[in-house]
Amino acid sequence: MLVADGARPETLFGAIDAGHLPALAALRAEGSAHTITSVFPSVTGPAYTPFLIGLHPGTAGVPGIRWWDRSGARAYAHGNARSYVGFEALRQDGDLDPLQPTLFELAERPIAAFTPIGRGLGDSERLGAGIASWPRVAWHHFRGDVGGWLRLERDLAQRVCDRVDAERPDLVFLAHPGVDKLSHQLGQGAPEVLDALRVVDATVARLRSDAARRGRAQALEFMIVSDHGHSAVHSHEDLAGTIAALGHDVLAHPWTFTGGRDVAVMVSGNAMAHLYLDLDRRARPHWPALASRWGSLVQALLARDAVDLLLLPHGPGACEVRSRLRGSAMVRRDARGRYSYRVGSGDPLGLGGALDSSAALEGLTGDEIHDASSDTDYPDSLVQILALADSARSGEIIVSAAPGWDLRARYEPLRHRSAHGSLHRDHLLVPLIMSRGPSERPRRTIELFALARGALARASLAR
Ligand SMILES: [Zn+2]
Repeated sequence: MLVADGARPETLFGAIDAGHLPALAALRAEGSAHTITSVFPSVTGPAYTPFLIGLHPGTAGVPGIRWWDRSGARAYAHGNARSYVGFEALRQDGDLDPLQPTLFELAERPIAAFTPIGRGLGDSERLGAGIASWPRVAWHHFRGDVGGWLRLERDLAQRVCDRVDAERPDLVFLAHPGVDKLSHQLGQGAPEVLDALRVVDATVARLRSDAARRGRAQALEFMIVSDHGHSAVHSHEDLAGTIAALGHDVLAHPWTFTGGRDVAVMVSGNAMAHLYLDLDRRARPHWPALASRWGSLVQALLARDAVDLLLLPHGPGACEVRSRLRGSAMVRRDARGRYSYRVGSGDPLGLGGALDSSAALEGLTGDEIHDASSDTDYPDSLVQILALADSARSGEIIVSAAPGWDLRARYEPLRHRSAHGSLHRDHLLVPLIMSRGPSERPRRTIELFALARGALARASLAR
């Protein structure tokens, strides 16, 4: 399983069509290629949980790269404010649902590199110890030196390939962070992004030629996927500053100890944010009871150009969606796992064409919702919204940024020209190339966990 981190479907498929990625072109021709949905929040780390642990990020226990631990159960460098950015990256493993096995725990002899989630990997099974295992830290080290970064990524991939050739592991998980890093700094259309994709292509070529030389070509199965898309940013909203200017006592990174008893602002990606309200309460409060104190904040946020959607959780299986431009609606999931959508003052998710005569959708399965929403701005919207809103670790207001905006203007070492994290299709759609045609058309990255499990079972039988 190779992750071309942050690659959009049209970026990867376009580069293949243009003849730039011959190994991936051969793989696609022999197998299959798909555009599928990742998860909300569409951000590195949480968006790896579908394929590595088979759960949505909120269900897995990591609802964002920054979140506020209302339970106060595990305090780290930032107190109850969790951040997986920089030196706290590996904290994610400890926050994952302990009852659900990771692919690394299911594999007998895994090898991985550059993975933000590594539970189940022994020290010798995780390559790139030291600086290379901290992509964000390493990136700062290489800031501006694009060639230097790609050499590091290529060298690490070659070391993984050496190990694969010598040890024949049953699972190889190799993330390539280059596309994401370069897209943030230069935009996904920059020619350097193609150089980053060529590193992925070279890894595929090397693994295939090694396997063929040893007569193992048939046993080698590939999944090439991305964890999120990317889109250009023209404006930066200082969300924490905006909320503080409204008169609220705000807690946000990096100042997580200096005040803030009203609202914790936890931004991911940087096009989404969890806002936690009434921080002294240990039990998570819900809407509409929050409206008396916090309704004015919602109104103020909806007036900001940076805000596209606000999700207001009403309790398990129920979430209100408000849009800056398109009104509000209710999303629900019943005890049978069927989804419904009721238009309120508008149709914020743009499901208009699928609505019945009473301006609603009723009793749809998750896959029916996926297919009904695949052409809207928010593919798989109802499933994604409730999967995040239901998490006990999510905020009481979940913000999805408007296209062109991100939500963290200050304290970023490199100004982002492109971002991800939101529920918008630019961030949620990802490419998938498989060396085997799956029996059923894949819809979501979360399906890759079961497919990889099946491949592991085949590998075990073959020995
Ligand atoms: Zn990513």
